[in-house]
Amino acid sequence: MSKDVHTEHCCYRHGCKYGKDDCSVETGDKQQSHPCEQCCEEAADPIRSALQAFVDDFEGDHVSDGEIVDEPRWSPLTSLYKRAKKALEDS
Ligand SMILES: [Zn+2]
Ligand SMILES: [Zn+2]
Repeated sequence: MSKDVHTEHCCYRHGCKYGKDDCSVETGDKQQSHPCEQCCEEAADPIRSALQAFVDDFEGDHVSDGEIVDEPRWSPLTSLYKRAKKALEDS
């Protein structure tokens, strides 16, 4: 397995560090040599990073200008989002 600049800096899960669509790692062509920075953070604190990923996803779908729009009121996700966000901000 040959190495290139992508195998040294990019991540299959977190994407190309250089934003290249044809990144050899992102396309699965080559294997990254080591975990990226973000991978290391996730390994160090998996619960926090899982919460952060959830908050980011929720905000992408349901938050605009800091307001929850299209709020899934029926959903426990809304209360989880509020609590997760507060916990992340407080810590
Ligand atoms: Zn790359
Ligand atoms: Zn990564």
